[in-house]
Formats: sequence, structure tokens, C-alpha cells
Amino acid sequence: MTTQETIALFEYYVIGNYKRYPVSLVRGEGSYVWDAEGNRYLDFFPGWGCDLIGHCPPRLVKAVQEQVARLIHVPNTWYTEPQGLLAKALVERAGFDGRCFFCNSGTEAVEAAIKLARLCGKPGRYKIITMLNSFHGRTLGALTATGQPKYHKGLEPLLAGFSYALFGDLDAAAKLVDGETCALMVEPIQGEGGINLPPPGYLEGLRELADRHKLMLIFDEVQTGMGRTGKWYAFQNWPVQPDALTLAKALAGGVAAGGLVAKPQFAEKLVPGTHAATFGGNPLACIAALATIETIEADGLLERALRLGDAFGRRFESLKARCPLIQKIRVQGAMIGVELSIDGALLVDQCLQKRLLINCTHGNVLRLLPALNLTDDQLENGCDILEDVLLSYEGGRKP
Ligand SMILES: *Cc1c(COP(=O)(O)O)cnc(C)c1O
Repeated sequence: MTTQETIALFEYYVIGNYKRYPVSLVRGEGSYVWDAEGNRYLDFFPGWGCDLIGHCPPRLVKAVQEQVARLIHVPNTWYTEPQGLLAKALVERAGFDGRCFFCNSGTEAVEAAIKLARLCGKPGRYKIITMLNSFHGRTLGALTATGQPKYHKGLEPLLAGFSYALFGDLDAAAKLVDGETCALMVEPIQGEGGINLPPPGYLEGLRELADRHKLMLIFDEVQTGMGRTGKWYAFQNWPVQPDALTLAKALAGGVAAGGLVAKPQFAEKLVPGTHAATFGGNPLACIAALATIETIEADGLLERALRLGDAFGRRFESLKARCPLIQKIRVQGAMIGVELSIDGALLVDQCLQKRLLINCTHGNVLRLLPALNLTDDQLENGCDILEDVLLSYEGGRKP
């Protein structure tokens, strides 16, 4: 089918809740994707951060192909080896003792965390503090947790018991704590909100605040987890530990999967009947996640994430000296944000014309979540395109 024929199907049969680019993608390999007409694109934002080790990574493809012929799905009324092995692998890398629950997406992982926080807050405590500008998902609980009014509009009334503090402001969070508060939830690095790094001492301060009031501290690592920042979990970049963390996006290298890792004294509250997910922890997703972890380890990709961060950082710093449109550069491993003085939508379109896929978030923040195995050549080629586009804008080049 041509791209136009596919678009025609969507126009009639698919609900229009997404803004899509007029490209039908048919194949991917590493950091490249191809459209129905055979055009190749360099992908600096593979799978919205899910394709952490690139499109169709060979180890994952092989593991899934073997598993799909053996056992696709059985419910959680049975034991399956892949789920057990994945839970062990995630806990061993967390640096604290934990127990896992599996689901299929980020929003579900956040819902599990919210339910766990409420169960642990009993009796009498149910309120959760999250941060302004955060993103936690689209189901009504996670949506309420999301501190951005634009996503709430038209969907009220939302879940009771949420309040929002300025990200980075410890006093603001402390002021919101009352006798009914049971948890604090924060992305260690805000992703959708513009790649916002925590100020020094912030996450540690939240830990102290949680300890002082016996609150559960939840880190939403759906975007930051699985090695994206050069550590298995982003919180490991700072001397701090959560009581629970959520995972999804990159967890299974592009196969749908979500998870919650919680310390045992919290996790034990999720007893039979309190929570479940029919597809959660299915053998296919778990095998894909195990293959992702194996690939990251075998190919030294945690190290590579740091090298990519350094290389992107250097490219953008050198461009900033020439291009007044660049305001701030925020990098933690393979999580790259470049704040612009212009709206980013046009930039995304113009890069697409030049066959480079990028993302802009929060209006004016260029966001790159490249695959950890992006090559040096691919990095330079993509940055050359970005540079050309930015320098060609009116006011894009210093006189
Ligand atoms: C993407 C994201 C979610 C939601 O994940 P879905 O899989 O889209 O439900 C939740 N939290 C964070 C931090 C995210 O980046």
C-alpha cells in the first residue's frame, strides 16, 4: 500500500486523536526507518523513547521469534519462567531489595503505584503530591497525577486527593503535606515537561521529606529507566532511593510492557484481589525485556549512553555559540533537551523534510531520545541536518 492509501484508511476508520505526520512507516533497523515509498529516515526519537536499542534489535527479534512459537500468553494464574527472570533482573539492577508487578504501559504502571500508595496509606491517608509540569499517563488516575491542566481539560471531575508542587522546589512540596498525605511521586528527570533535570539536592530532599512524614516516595521512571541516562535507573545518578518505581516505554525494547518495582514492605500490600493486569508480564513481553537488558550489557550501552550525551552536548554547545535561537541545553545520557526561543513544531516538520525524525515537547524544547546504539556517523549526520535547519531561520545565525 502507498502512504496515501494507508492515510485514506485512517481518515475513515481510525479515530483522529493523534496528530500524525503524512508518512506510513513499514520497516526499521537500528536508527533508521523506511516509509512505504522506500524513503529512509534517520531516527533520533525511535518509538517515542521505547526503542531504546534501536528498531528491530537482532537479539530481541530472535528471542521473541522463538518465544512466539512456544508460548504467547497465559494469565497470571500460572507461573512462567520469563516473568520470574525479568523480575529478578530488574530488582538486581535497582540496588535495593524489591518486588515486581507487571502491566503493559506506563499509565498502568502509574495506576499500580497510586493504588499501592493508597493501600499503604490506610487508614486515613490517601493524598498524593506530584509535580507541576509532570507527565504520568492518560488513564484517569495517572492523568490526575499529571500536573498539567491542559491534559485535564474537559475530563473533570478527576480523582480526589492530588496536589502539585513546583518541580525543583522542596518547600513547595513540604507545604502540601498534611495528615492525609500518603505519597510523593516525581519523575527524576521530567521528560514530557521538557527534559528538566532535578536541581542539586532535590531528590534527596524529597527522600527526607518522605521519611519525615512516613510517605511513600515513588519515582516515575517510565521515560528515564532501563539505561537511558547511563544508569539502569535515572535515580542512580544521585544518592537517593525510592520506595517504588515505575517502568514502561523502553522496558521491553519496543514491545508493550510496563512494571512496578517496590520495596517489600510496600509491595506486600498488593495481595490477591487488589490489583491485576490480564496481559501483564506475559512471556513475549518478558522475553523481549530480558533480551533488551542482555543487549545493553553485552554491547556496553550504559557507557554508550554517556558518550552519546557528551557528543550531543558538545554539538549543541558549539551550535549555541552561533545560533541565538538556542537558549538552554539539558543532557543526561541519551536524554537530550534543547530549549529554543521559537516554537518547535516547524523545526520538526523541516527536519522531517530532510528525513530526520526528532521531537519537540512543551512547545519549544527540542527533545531527542536516541537509541543507545546510534553510531557516531549517524549522530554527526543528524546533527548536521539540525544545524542546517536552525541556522537557516531568520535570526538563526549570529551576525
Ligand atoms: C510516557 C510516560 C507515561 C505514560 O506511558 P504510556 O505507556 O503512554 O501509558 C508515564 N510516565 C512517564 C514519565 C512517561 O514519560
